[in-house]
Amino acid sequence: MLLKNEIVNIEITDITDEGNGVGKVDGFTVFVPGTAVGDKLRARLVKLQKNFGYGIVEELLSPSPDRIDPDCSVYRQCGGCSLRHISYEAELAIKENWVVQHLRRIGGITAPVLPIIGSPRQNGYRNKTQCPIRDDGQGVRLGMFGKRSHRVIQCTDCKLQPAHFEQILQTVQDFCKEQHISIYNEQNHTGLLRHVYIREAQATGETMVCLVVNGNELPHSDILIKRLTACCPSVKSIVLNSNTAKTNIILGKTCKTLWGKDHITDILCGVKIDISPLSFYQVNREGAEQLYSIAAEFAGLTGNELLLDLYCGAGTIGLSMAHKVRELIGVEIIPAAIENAKQNAKNNGITNAHFICDDAKGAAAMLKQQGLTPDVIVLDPPRKGCEPEVLQLVADMCPQRIVMVSCNSATLARDLAVLQTLGYQTVNAQPVDMFPRTSHVETCVLLSHKNS
Ligand code: SAH
Repeated sequence: MLLKNEIVNIEITDITDEGNGVGKVDGFTVFVPGTAVGDKLRARLVKLQKNFGYGIVEELLSPSPDRIDPDCSVYRQCGGCSLRHISYEAELAIKENWVVQHLRRIGGITAPVLPIIGSPRQNGYRNKTQCPIRDDGQGVRLGMFGKRSHRVIQCTDCKLQPAHFEQILQTVQDFCKEQHISIYNEQNHTGLLRHVYIREAQATGETMVCLVVNGNELPHSDILIKRLTACCPSVKSIVLNSNTAKTNIILGKTCKTLWGKDHITDILCGVKIDISPLSFYQVNREGAEQLYSIAAEFAGLTGNELLLDLYCGAGTIGLSMAHKVRELIGVEIIPAAIENAKQNAKNNGITNAHFICDDAKGAAAMLKQQGLTPDVIVLDPPRKGCEPEVLQLVADMCPQRIVMVSCNSATLARDLAVLQTLGYQTVNAQPVDMFPRTSHVETCVLLSHKNS
């Protein structure tokens, strides 16, 4: 019988999809964060449940060959880069295995999983940061929430973000101190500034700074505008987002442009893309180009197809394939994203694309009702995956091929299993690492109709 605070010897044999090392002590499973397969260590048991427990490293007796220096001062507190202590090569193998295990175990999918494609960049790849700002009485802190907590860790130089974000974050933080800007307090739901949200369009360098406030105004914003535009000429848009709700959701529904443009423009797969603060946009642009080219290959387009892009965001996947189809229809629930998608089609002279702002289920039902028969359907749902009704409607429209793109291989596996029962066979799965150093991985899957 193991006891809390007991020190045990353990060898790490696996890594969970949350990035925790796993080992056994007398047959009992123990999870140890920050470890690597092959580590031999002494761990203190900090939490015990009936069938498993959690430990923390007390002493590393013999390190795994996969270990590297985590090279970030807040790595332990932050928890964002749960794989930063492991070589990138080992990380890719771990992620490929997660996808294989999820597809096999959750979905019963036996289709081949192709060797994972790594990200061109392992640091500085993120084109977006959303930093909470808080004051716990010891001064204003701007950075990230700690692991499983809402305590802000001061960090303006996250290794995953572009280098110039640091100066922007520092400028905002200094401005808040100097101008005595009130800082949001989650417990009391008081105070003004909640988050600093920055986006960069990597191909053009255009940068957007969005200040999320619990209110409708930011006092002395003219001073901040002057400073931001002076210190960082790539800033082309400064936006105020109002979020007055008592919620963990970062962004509110309304935005006001304080200075410059209301969007920034990136180039993705040769297509100019306008990005508004509220529109979804892939965080790793170069990774997204790799992902979309796989999706295009899987879609097997010849120029005659009707392509339906469900969960289309700002239209990016579909628009990157528009020149290879007869007609493109995109569906997305966020109005600002659909506005972007329409504008993006226009800006690129794409005339064979239509966009519908609706819930995927409602739109799919309507399109089916109208007798639409897409040749290919692309599905790129949020992390929770597709609703069963959406999968049923997709199958009812009887496309020859379905291309599924997902950042959560567990819900992907579940949805593939449903599609298999609806007449679609999984042909191939291609993991693409869009999120180096973190415990996330993207997968693109080709399904084909069993009769085609
Ligand atoms: N394909 C896009 C966006 C993928 S992210 C790209 O690659 O950039 C998933 C998108 O689904 C988000 O834009 C989100 O707003 C949208 N979404 C979430 N729930 C939805 C629903 N029920 N119906 C339609 N779209 C939805």
